[in-house]
Amino acid sequence: MELEQKFKQTLEKIKLNKKDKILVALSGGKDSTVTAYLLKKFGYNIEGFHINLSMGEYSKKCLEAVEKLCNNLGINLHIYNIKNEMGGSMCYIRTAIQTSHGKGLKNCAICGVIKKWIMNREARKLKVNKIATGHNLDDEAQTFLMNILKGSPQLSANSGAITRNVKDKKFITRIKPLFYIAENDIREYAKKKKLPVVFEHCPCAIDSYRIQIRQFTNSLSKKEKENIMKNFDKLSDKIQKLKSEDAELHYCEKCGEPSRKKICRMCEMIK
Ligand code: AMP
Ligand code: ZN
Repeated sequence: MELEQKFKQTLEKIKLNKKDKILVALSGGKDSTVTAYLLKKFGYNIEGFHINLSMGEYSKKCLEAVEKLCNNLGINLHIYNIKNEMGGSMCYIRTAIQTSHGKGLKNCAICGVIKKWIMNREARKLKVNKIATGHNLDDEAQTFLMNILKGSPQLSANSGAITRNVKDKKFITRIKPLFYIAENDIREYAKKKKLPVVFEHCPCAIDSYRIQIRQFTNSLSKKEKENIMKNFDKLSDKIQKLKSEDAELHYCEKCGEPSRKKICRMCEMIK
């Protein structure tokens, strides 16, 4: 099957090892569910990790789907409850950040920074050496185009099916096994395999710029989306060189997490 073949090829490309201990970041959505299902099917050593964002019914459904999946796959599931750990739901934390920073910060951007910060920290505690996420071809083509349109292609410098050039004991390598696989194919596959998936979108995903770009990428053929990412791969080394010298990795002065600035993006937001 084409999707499984592409998935395997991506794992070969990033040289994933059967000895790697992989934490799959599970949202309850189709992409991360298919990622965990296929990694397990091909014999990789995986455990699940879910951040319960405490966003009412939507979060309840996501948690149920993730629990069911891990049960079916016979893998451990680690749950991080944002309300218990950070004192409020994602909606609460996000609104507090937006209130103190003005309206500039978008919902998805805030949520994304917080989730990445949590994932790296928890993955390190669990002593895994890889984090797998469900980012797919459509997500990546959108992000790459958005960075180009913003005039900042260097923001894509560390992107790719595996994080590049970040060798640091506190930074856990992230992989995206669905990097070259189109969203529609993943949706069909999840349905065909009857995987426990929440198909509805996050109720807070109202980042208008990404929605606009998504409308555009939805109008493209699979071949065209693949071409965008093939170009990304070809340009990747050049994009690396656009990164400024001060982009070296430090440790955040507040939380100690790896960061490119003195204060990491997470601490910058919640100060
Ligand atoms: P998103 O930022 O929502 O597009 O999600 C991108 C990827 O991040 C997903 O494919 C998952 O691998 C991971 N992810 C998103 N939300 C969660 C969550 N609540 N818990 C764990 N992982 C998540
Ligand atoms: Zn920090």
